[in-house]
Amino acid sequence: MAKTKIAVVGYGVIGQRLADGVALQKDMELVGVVDTAPTLAVRALYEKGMPYKLFCAIPGKLPDLEAAGIPVSGTMDDILKKVDVVLDATPAGIGEKNKEKYKKVAVKAIFQGGEKNEVADVFFHGYANYKKGLGKDFLKLTSCNTTGLIRAIDCLDRMVGIEKIAITIIRRVADPGDTHRGLVDLLKIDPIPSHQAVDLMLIMPHIKATGILVHTPVTHGHIITIVATPEREITKEEALKEFNKHPRIRVVRIADGFDSNTSLFRYARDLGHPRGDMYEIAVFEETVGFSGKDIVFAINIPQEAVVIPETIDAVRASTKMQKDRLEAVALTNKYLGMK
Ligand code: NAD
Repeated sequence: MAKTKIAVVGYGVIGQRLADGVALQKDMELVGVVDTAPTLAVRALYEKGMPYKLFCAIPGKLPDLEAAGIPVSGTMDDILKKVDVVLDATPAGIGEKNKEKYKKVAVKAIFQGGEKNEVADVFFHGYANYKKGLGKDFLKLTSCNTTGLIRAIDCLDRMVGIEKIAITIIRRVADPGDTHRGLVDLLKIDPIPSHQAVDLMLIMPHIKATGILVHTPVTHGHIITIVATPEREITKEEALKEFNKHPRIRVVRIADGFDSNTSLFRYARDLGHPRGDMYEIAVFEETVGFSGKDIVFAINIPQEAVVIPETIDAVRASTKMQKDRLEAVALTNKYLGMK
């Protein structure tokens, strides 16, 4: 079978990781990546010997790339002629503008969480609503927190049924290196409900959700605490067994040293994962408890890498490479080297 041809547009925090993830998929071909400037990520691509071809999004920006000595294989128009699907990982709002270009050449596109929901036909999560994405031209991924949260809630929901949830998001405010966010020393709080709770209800409308979000001046991972009301009582053992079976969830123990967001980042580095990336969310085993019949637990969200598997699922859905949800996610997981 011919491989599905992919371009990644926007080679930043998410785009670099999408490119690496797609390159690992044996049934997909990464034709190239697109950016506008000799950013650090683009300079690193050059220093690594250009494992991916680079295309320039804006012709007027070509001299900047050339002046930095970066080889450019063509323009955005050139690469769009060669691909079936674009993974758009540009800063929020740019994807919406790019959409016109994708429409013109009838190329499908997957947008990231920063874009408005209206940019896409379907708001997508590989595990929770795979079928809705089948054959659609424009999909939008859930944001990093929502992606991880839905993984955990969908896992419990398929086991026991979940009526409602209330969450608190302790949100890392910047990615490592985001100096434009400034030197910060405060905890900033948003009004209820957080967009992640609202987004979960768009993907899983049978669950009532609300949540509070606190921005924290850290860079390595969010933590979400969750109170979920199951349709029948479950035990801690049952919940942990289900989380343990999920290929995109890692159950970790505080007693073993996994006692912070940074412990997971450090562990990923010790595993030799590029950039300290971790595709899995983590459930902290010793946080699983109960308030009446409601189950309480905390998860870690590695914000820079968590959306990569679900974005690749979106390619599978939009191109109908697999019509079955579990077949699709299993292939993504296998090629990404997940359990
Ligand atoms: P980023 O700023 O790290 O990267 C964006 C890249 O796009 C940059 O390299 C920039 O040079 C390039 N770019 C700008 N304009 C362009 C254009 N017109 N054409 C092509 N490239 C262009 O951004 P990011 O953090 O990777 O975020 C991308 C998207 O992913 C956003 O929607 C964001 O909300 C979402 N997202 C981010 C995270 C995260 O933790 N950073 C997590 C999940 C989702």
